[in-house]
Amino acid sequence: MSLNGKNPTKMSLNYQCPHCNGYIAIEGCVIFSIRTPDLKSGIISLHTELGNYSIKKNPEFEISTGDHLDFYCPICHAELASEVHQNLAKIIMIDEANREFEILFSRVLGERTTFKIVGETMEIFGDDSAEYLDFINLSFVH
Ligand SMILES: [Zn+2]
Repeated sequence: MSLNGKNPTKMSLNYQCPHCNGYIAIEGCVIFSIRTPDLKSGIISLHTELGNYSIKKNPEFEISTGDHLDFYCPICHAELASEVHQNLAKIIMIDEANREFEILFSRVLGERTTFKIVGETMEIFGDDSAEYLDFINLSFVH
């Protein structure tokens, strides 16, 4: 047993593209290729901690609060869209116990909405998530 905080058998938190299964996170950042409503392109990163809405981007890549951003996988360039609601993007999270979750988050810049879903259970993060709850719940009813 190590005392310096590193346990080599423990899985680390990971995020994957649902299309190519490529690993899209590096050191606390989930990397996305983005297209803005006026068709500018750039890379942004979101924090790997759910409910942390800090964004990193190139200072020359201008995006504004309220913009509906198109999120693409930086590896296969598939659009990371959710079928639940047009404002939500979808990626896959693999937690430290190797469990797989569907992560839905808002494509609208500044909107704090994140859902972590496995089967019929979910965790909700962000102050703006309530307006999407009906859509999420409806998608469970089949
Ligand atoms: Zn991909």
